[in-house]
Amino acid sequence: MTIAYLSLGSNKGDRIGYIQQATSLLSAIDAVSIVRTSAFYETEPWNMSSEKWFVNAIVEIKTKLSARELLTECQRIERQLGRVHNESGVYADRTIDIDILFFGKEIINEPDLIVPHKFVHLRAFTLVPMLELSPDFEHPVLHKTISELHNDLENPEMVFLYGTRVEM
Ligand code: AMP
Repeated sequence: MTIAYLSLGSNKGDRIGYIQQATSLLSAIDAVSIVRTSAFYETEPWNMSSEKWFVNAIVEIKTKLSARELLTECQRIERQLGRVHNESGVYADRTIDIDILFFGKEIINEPDLIVPHKFVHLRAFTLVPMLELSPDFEHPVLHKTISELHNDLENPEMVFLYGTRVEM
């Protein structure tokens, strides 16, 4: 059994609904159980030209799958929820984006699977919900905890707790 952290984000349509549907589709997989979910956060688009803010959350799961099998399942759920992958590689609005942030302490460097996720330590929208779930979790490559990585952010994008508009 491996503990993994998945980042779920949506900036199109019923954003919270898509995250809830993705969570329930994840929990329907035999070899996956949901341990905890973070609150919902509203976050400024990062590295893309869209004006549409994201809703983001992180789900902590326990799984018997390998990281690659989990990626395949996440991509199946993205397709099921209407995510259209853009061939040009340019970021576009999406109904759902599911990223594997951490897969236990595993380090994977393959062309289509990089774990820990290559941006996890650079984005407030991943570090803020991770702080809520697991502030002492140590990044297996950078050897810093989530709290330390969050403190190191130099230019964090805006992240608000959904519904309360309290700046984090
Ligand atoms: P994105 O547009 O951000 O959803 O990126 C999707 C692409 O990132 C897919 O082709 C994946 O194969 C690749 N990828 C690499 N590492 C990861 C990861 N840790 N989690 C999810 N997708 C990943």
